[in-house]
Amino acid sequence: MEKMSIHPTLLQRKIVHIDMDCFYAAVEVRDNPSLKGKPVIVGGQPGSRGVVATCSYEARKFGIHSAMSSSQAYKRCPSAIFIKPNSEKYRAVSSQIRDVFKRYTDVIEPLSLDEAFLDVTEHQLYGTEIAKRIRSEVFSDTELTCSAGVGPNKLIAKIASDMNKPNGITVVPPHKAKVFMEHLSLRKIPGVGSVTEKKLNSLGFKLCKEIWPIHISELERKLGKRMAGWLYDRSRGIDERPVRTERIRKSLSAERTFSEDLNDLDKIQEEIRKISVRVSEQLVKKDLKGKTITLKIKYSDFEQITRCISIERKTNDVDELFEVSYQLLLKTEVGARSVRLLGIGVSSFGDSEVTDSSITFSNGVQQVLF
Ligand SMILES: [Mg+2]
Repeated sequence: MEKMSIHPTLLQRKIVHIDMDCFYAAVEVRDNPSLKGKPVIVGGQPGSRGVVATCSYEARKFGIHSAMSSSQAYKRCPSAIFIKPNSEKYRAVSSQIRDVFKRYTDVIEPLSLDEAFLDVTEHQLYGTEIAKRIRSEVFSDTELTCSAGVGPNKLIAKIASDMNKPNGITVVPPHKAKVFMEHLSLRKIPGVGSVTEKKLNSLGFKLCKEIWPIHISELERKLGKRMAGWLYDRSRGIDERPVRTERIRKSLSAERTFSEDLNDLDKIQEEIRKISVRVSEQLVKKDLKGKTITLKIKYSDFEQITRCISIERKTNDVDELFEVSYQLLLKTEVGARSVRLLGIGVSSFGDSEVTDSSITFSNGVQQVLF
């Protein structure tokens, strides 16, 4: 007798991905209308070690993008207006947006302050209608625009939200998923970065559909088991990951291993600064502040030590992280011994720690309205 089983994809879900349009820059322009139509860059000042956090579409025309160094951005567009990020303000707006989402579902997975997945499977309205309402309510509550993608899973919803940016919506109903993926460049799959893209291109793969005829065993030979299975599914628009409500994050850290061991204190200080910037950016992005700062050092002989301290008030400020880490550094043998790895971690997030660790799976429902 034939075995009866329901393939998970038959439990059709409705997933919405919402992404604010150049969020930080849009907030700044909203609050200072004289910036309208100008290249606005939120991030570090040119000449500093800072990077571009977000920039307006006018700045993007100059080839400026987030994570680019501010100095390079300045070279591309000297007339750009650089604004220091105001994380308090962005957090406040982010929570307004979250309030709009909550009117439609509790199954919300924020990816950053300005981006989230919503599982609206259980809602009686069409996913399309929900996305439309969210967009208009976000606009009326914040005067800011966002883009939305609606699809049967996170992969498709996320790719879709990027297709009609800014201020647009793209809906991919389940029966259109295949056509949607077909001519899509593999680079559009979140998780395929420039390194993976190069590798795939060198194997002759540019589009999702070019993966389809390749047998999984051949893909495994070419890409390794993990990557092959992942790409096999993603290229076909398959993604069973549930929308996860927030998880507990206990610490956040960044570290660097150097190609050559470091002796020079100035150089080490410079590296501490760079790592502080990275940690601070991640904390701001994830809306976290911590009280405990940990410095990790691996000496050239591989001995590893950590030094940590708890400060009075929670922070995610780059200068404070740097100062504290540098003070910790002075309590080590750095200078006398050379260093092969440096790392900085922040923990004790306290109140901002999110305690809901549940993973929410949406139930499969019979009738799904797209
Ligand atoms: Mg965004």
